[in-house]
Amino acid sequence: MCGIIGIKGNDEVAKELFVGLLALQHRGQNAAGISTYDGERFYYKKDTGLVSRVLSEEYLRRLHGSIGIGHVRYPTIGSGGEEDAQPFLINSPVGMAMVHNGNIVNYFELRRTLEKRRYLNSFCDVEVLLNIFAENFDKDPFKATEKIMDITNGGYSVIAIVSGLGLFAFRDPNAIRPFIFGRRGENYIFASESVVLQILDYKVIKDLEPGEGILIDENGKVTQRIIKKGAPRHCIFEYIYFARPESFLDGLSVYQKRLNLGKELSKETQRQGVKPDVVVPIPDTSRPTAIALAEELDVPYREGLIKNRYILRTFIMSTDEERAMYIKYKLNPLVSELRGKKVLLVDDSIVRGTTSRQIVRVVRNAGAKEIYFAISAPPIRNPCYYGIDMQTRSELIAREKSVEEIREVLKADALIYQTLDGLTRAIGKESFCRACFDGDYPTKIKGKEMLEIEEKRKKVTRKKTAGADLFDV
Ligand code: SF4
Repeated sequence: MCGIIGIKGNDEVAKELFVGLLALQHRGQNAAGISTYDGERFYYKKDTGLVSRVLSEEYLRRLHGSIGIGHVRYPTIGSGGEEDAQPFLINSPVGMAMVHNGNIVNYFELRRTLEKRRYLNSFCDVEVLLNIFAENFDKDPFKATEKIMDITNGGYSVIAIVSGLGLFAFRDPNAIRPFIFGRRGENYIFASESVVLQILDYKVIKDLEPGEGILIDENGKVTQRIIKKGAPRHCIFEYIYFARPESFLDGLSVYQKRLNLGKELSKETQRQGVKPDVVVPIPDTSRPTAIALAEELDVPYREGLIKNRYILRTFIMSTDEERAMYIKYKLNPLVSELRGKKVLLVDDSIVRGTTSRQIVRVVRNAGAKEIYFAISAPPIRNPCYYGIDMQTRSELIAREKSVEEIREVLKADALIYQTLDGLTRAIGKESFCRACFDGDYPTKIKGKEMLEIEEKRKKVTRKKTAGADLFDV
């Protein structure tokens, strides 16, 4: 999961890129970077860490130019180190800089071929995309991208600066990762989420179509083309968890979809005969879902867990005790709202179950009489290979265990998952990827590709968190 932004303006764009990246910080806290171009040379600054740490005032003043791109990173492939931070730059056949959000499924195969003739410095898949783009570039970015779309398999939204040409963006043929295009006067913007356009006062022009490329040349002329047509399969998980609630993705309100998830979840809660005294969200993503669920059940909605947003995942958690302490520091119970009550906790998803189990323990210790756990998403049974770090097959708790067995692991009094039908009614089916729930991947993935991605992911995950669910708290 990453966030990207690109602006073609008339004046310096570094500060706008910086503000845009702050609005996308939720999509990746591992690294950040900006590259700009002033018509003569490229400037860049990238490093591991949050946007505000990497891009100080001093650095922003040095990033000159009216064209620029920016990136926040959550590593899905690569070490997560400084060498994998984006943007990536190249100076042949012309100067180019590139950022992307997504994941290339056949990355290792492409890398092996490329390495025979080019030197690669990282394990970041945008470096491979940039090299293929550069090798096939002969004044026409659409043709170079046609080659990328012909030989790559995956989900990707990409923005590039090409010297002497302008700002160029493209989205994969299934439009898996979100990508929006907007305008403010003579300035143009591309971004992962509409919230960036809203904050920077840009008007939405459109979401990029599947397989579409858009070029804004140095004079501001816009050229749009469908490079490779495909059926849309937008990531449904963006609506459940990743995107900010203010965003509209492919025309749909994330907040409204989360409310819908709560309404659907109430049906399953009632079907199971669960009758809570209070509905409590696990902050922050599940709030709208919990609000709608409480309304439908006609039960009070309360904040029962207060999140300390200044604690970041900066330390390695290798033991159960360390993980328990992390949750304790991060989520503090509001005892007055929990003690002696039958509490229905609402969360967006369960990956390994490690975090959920700790949360149940925290709420139990706060004196809750009974604890029920409701999940916005259906059981996650398959990893994502399109840019979301969802562990490996063997680590997904719902792959091997039944719902009842998971409830026992969590030590909850009831476990209520969203059903696939409920998910379909809440968000939709036809134009969405929901492979992590139903295994129906939008592109064909070879067993070897799955293994290579998972092998690499295991190593990265061990290094990053050593055991906690990656996107729970
Ligand atoms: S597999 Fe899941 S997380 Fe990945 S793109 Fe599809 S819906 Fe999104």
